[in-house]
Amino acid sequence: MQTDPAQYIRDTIRTVPDWPKPGVQFRDITPVLQDPRSFRVLIDLFVYRYMRQRLDLVAGIDARGFIVGSVLAYELNLGFVPVRKQGKLPFRTVAEEYALEYGNATVEMHTDSVRPGQRVLLIDDLIATGGTMMAASRLLQRLGANVAEAAAIIDLPDLGGSKAVRESGLPVYTVCAFE
Ligand code: AMP
Repeated sequence: MQTDPAQYIRDTIRTVPDWPKPGVQFRDITPVLQDPRSFRVLIDLFVYRYMRQRLDLVAGIDARGFIVGSVLAYELNLGFVPVRKQGKLPFRTVAEEYALEYGNATVEMHTDSVRPGQRVLLIDDLIATGGTMMAASRLLQRLGANVAEAAAIIDLPDLGGSKAVRESGLPVYTVCAFE
C-alpha cells in the first residue's frame, strides 16, 4: 500500500454522478468490499479504534451498515443488532421518524435488541445530513442504551451532518471525507 489506510479506502470508493437522481454524487463502497485488501484495511481501521473501548454491542444501519457492522462486531467479539427500515422486523418494534429532503423516513429496532445501560457503537456507511444517525441514536436511547459513538466510512462535511450529530452530544468517527 503506497498511501495511508484511510486514503487507500477513500481512493477505492467509487463516485457515481447523478445517482439515484440528478445532482447526487453517490459514494459507492462496493469496490472497497469487493477487494479483499481494502475490505480488510477498512475493518482493521475500525477494529484498532474500538478494540480497547468498553462496548457491548454494534448496531448497524440498514443496509450498508449491516455489512461493516456485522464483521466489526464479530472481530470485536460483540453482538450485532440491526437498525432497519420500516416494516422489515418481525417482532415488537420501536420506531423513529426523521425528515428527508422530500418527505420522511422511519427506522425501527426490536424492543429487546438492547438492554438498558449497554454501550452501543452505531455504524453506517455514510453521514450526509446526519438524520439517519440521529434517528438511530434516539431509538437506542429510548431503549436505554448508551450510544458510545457514531461511526461511518464516509463523511460529507458540506452537508453538515457530522457536525449536527456531534452537536447533539454524540461523538463521531469517519474514515474519510468527500467535500
Ligand atoms: P443522512 O441521513 O442524510 O445522513 O443520509 C445517510 C444515509 O443515506 C446513509 O445510510 C447512506 O447510505 C445514504 N446516503 C446519503 N447520501 C449518500 C451518498 N451521496 N452516497 C451514498 N449514500 C448516501
